[in-house]
Amino acid sequence: MPTQRVMVVTAHPDDSEFGAAGTVAKFVRDGCEITYVIVTNGSKGSSDRSMTSERLIRIREEEQRNAARALGVERVQFLGYEDGEVEDTRELRRDVTREIRRWRPDLVICQSPNRSYNLGASHRDHRIVGGAVLDCVYPLARDHLAFPELLPEYEPHKVREIYVMQWENPQLVVDISDVMDVKMKALACHASQFGDFAGLEARVRERAAALGKPKGYAYAEAFDRIEMLR
Ligand SMILES: [Zn+2]
Repeated sequence: MPTQRVMVVTAHPDDSEFGAAGTVAKFVRDGCEITYVIVTNGSKGSSDRSMTSERLIRIREEEQRNAARALGVERVQFLGYEDGEVEDTRELRRDVTREIRRWRPDLVICQSPNRSYNLGASHRDHRIVGGAVLDCVYPLARDHLAFPELLPEYEPHKVREIYVMQWENPQLVVDISDVMDVKMKALACHASQFGDFAGLEARVRERAAALGKPKGYAYAEAFDRIEMLR
């Protein structure tokens, strides 16, 4: 059965655009329904000394909604955890499990739980959220006895497949050449995060080109792929 529903769970507003916007744009084009779940409120991501966390949270939610709209993402759920302080708690696992059970995705896209020396990609929040998402797909969303308080509203759900964002030695390289401009348009919505968008665009295109090169794609995004046993 083809993938019909996709859920992207990330730590911060803008993470899904960096890691998966091209792949998301292709799923949208194929008629899939996409849900974004953003775990933290993004309240720390500013170097502007006159910025307050309260203002930043509102700006970043708006930017994320605009980016989602640019891609054709159906909905964005914000879980509101504190940026930079997310921990692998029962509460986090219950909240992510609830969203998986609510929207019932065939495919979940998440961040890598592994530390690497790419410090930006393996930000502490990314690792913790990525690890929690894997735990929620299996076994927490599947098992009716996990989080009994979610029943009867949120019935167990089996995700079929997971894409874990992967920048080094990926198992799956997705050709995003014909949606690269859409990815850049979505990324540009996160204006609060970039002083110099032209410089950022050059770096993002360079990295996407490097990921695609071994396969002969102009631009790519890359993942490890986990297929769940039925
Ligand atoms: Zn991030």
